[in-house]
Amino acid sequence: MDKNFQEEEFTQIIKFTPPLHKQRHQFVKDLVEKYKPKKVADLGCADCSLLWMLKFCSCIEVLAGLDICANVMKEKMHTLSPLPVDYLQPSERSLTVTLHHGSVAHKDPCMLGFDLVTCIELIEHLEESELKKFPEVVFGFMAPSIVVISTPNSEFNRLLPGVMLYRHPDHKFEWNQAQFQSWALETARCYDYSVEFTGVGHPPTGMEKVGFCTQIGVFVRKYPPTGGSVQSEKPAEAVYKTVFKTVYPSLKDEKYLQNAVISEVIFTAQIIKHRLMSKREEYDDDPERKSKFQPSMDCFSDSLGKLVVEKNMEPFVSGNEVYIPLATIFSFPKVNRLCGTFEKLCKLIAGKVTLSSDGSAVMFNIEHENEEN
Ligand code: SAH
Repeated sequence: MDKNFQEEEFTQIIKFTPPLHKQRHQFVKDLVEKYKPKKVADLGCADCSLLWMLKFCSCIEVLAGLDICANVMKEKMHTLSPLPVDYLQPSERSLTVTLHHGSVAHKDPCMLGFDLVTCIELIEHLEESELKKFPEVVFGFMAPSIVVISTPNSEFNRLLPGVMLYRHPDHKFEWNQAQFQSWALETARCYDYSVEFTGVGHPPTGMEKVGFCTQIGVFVRKYPPTGGSVQSEKPAEAVYKTVFKTVYPSLKDEKYLQNAVISEVIFTAQIIKHRLMSKREEYDDDPERKSKFQPSMDCFSDSLGKLVVEKNMEPFVSGNEVYIPLATIFSFPKVNRLCGTFEKLCKLIAGKVTLSSDGSAVMFNIEHENEEN
């Protein structure tokens, strides 16, 4: 028997492990990991649980949900908002999440430009007239590189306890494998997509002909979308209502980048200063060596980062001030990666960190700090 399928001997209750809805969402997540789309739209997103899962995929920069029922989206849409940790440690990627209220039977320009469109257990909820318009909206108008459509396989229903006609009272139809595949192949042919069939929820051993409990079609667009003529057919008017929009804090935003760089510069400078002062104390305890004291880069361990040793990069003490050259701080990998260039580092910390008069070093007053301690 398949590992994700258990038939309880006496009750004949079939259980999928993990539950089927989770397997469907995991299927989409795996697809995202494989194709790395930047913009993903989930049509019929319901309680936003798939969108919530996808917000953790680091390749995604734009996530959109659409549902005809605003209330079901609103129930849990707050789970899509950034958490305090997202503000404390802004991500390098940008991420915008938007929820729209509307129907897949209508075209809206906000749905253009997506790489992946997911329709998980959606089509069987569509009225006949909506289902007719659906291919033109999704494949003709939105025309993403990839479309995933999942729907119940009616052939499996006889193995599911308590299913009389359909699995859910809102289902308008449920297709067997031949019906789904013929609709999908015709849709793919019409809009220049290829389609492959798979599914989740394996049938019991010996009953493989029944097929997966959930059947899935993965459609891949054959050619890049055509330019001008298609564009001119696209309606300018928005028909969906945006019910939620959130922009995650990102280092792509200068405001968050500046905060991150300032923290990292101060942190790095503190470490360097600490090493320098410890070394100096060692020398202070030894009067003979004290007179010869010259701080050098030797006092930094490799674990602090690979430092470029140049004469003008050496930290030094003058009176009550410790000077940590910005060039040294810039050579630390994290600071380097955040800023990219030395000029950018200088620009981002200007006026925010105490610098030497020529602006070449971060400056600490030892006496002042000792008092604080
Ligand atoms: N995709 C969800 C479950 C979908 S249930 C999941 O993976 O868990 C089907 C959803 O489609 C419902 O939330 C329903 O409100 C929505 N729906 C039904 N008709 C629709 C239409 N014409 N346009 C957009 N959404 C629709």
